[in-house]
Amino acid sequence: MTQKQLADAMNISDKTISKWERGLGLPDVSLLRELSEILGINVERLLSGDLKADEKDGGNMKKIKFYVCQECGNVITATGGGEISCCGRKLAALTAKPADESHRLNVQEIENDYYVTFSHDMSKDHHVSFVAYVTWDRVLLIKLYPEQNPEVRFPRMQKGKIYFYCSNDGLWVN
Ligand SMILES: [Zn+2]
Ligand SMILES: [Zn+2]
Repeated sequence: MTQKQLADAMNISDKTISKWERGLGLPDVSLLRELSEILGINVERLLSGDLKADEKDGGNMKKIKFYVCQECGNVITATGGGEISCCGRKLAALTAKPADESHRLNVQEIENDYYVTFSHDMSKDHHVSFVAYVTWDRVLLIKLYPEQNPEVRFPRMQKGKIYFYCSNDGLWVN
């Protein structure tokens, strides 16, 4: 954008933009939100003055990261880096723990499916809220809700891992 285009979009003078660019002044805090919207850059990056791209995504789904928002329950996945936030808070990628006694899945082959069962609580306060089957090129994620039966069925695919998320105890992997 030219200084004039940005100035017009913000209803300020292009002299002001010119000042910012030359480091002779800074945008008022009250303008940051508008500036962020017009430029399509989040406020934090705007302030840091840095738009360095993340490392190139290797494209392997096995490296998939899961994010869960504790406020609204949103489940987000990413195959590369990224700044993930929800409900105004930054989310950290979950670290999967190897399944323990109370967070273990049983997998049976039935016809062309993997029939996955678990003996975990499915109450409102403590339940498995998703199960994801991850192979090198795909992810199948099944959302679970309280009071549902502790079971899911996946079509059998290549070798992979099964992740599952407990509302209280976080992410586990089988
Ligand atoms: Zn949220
Ligand atoms: Zn649990």
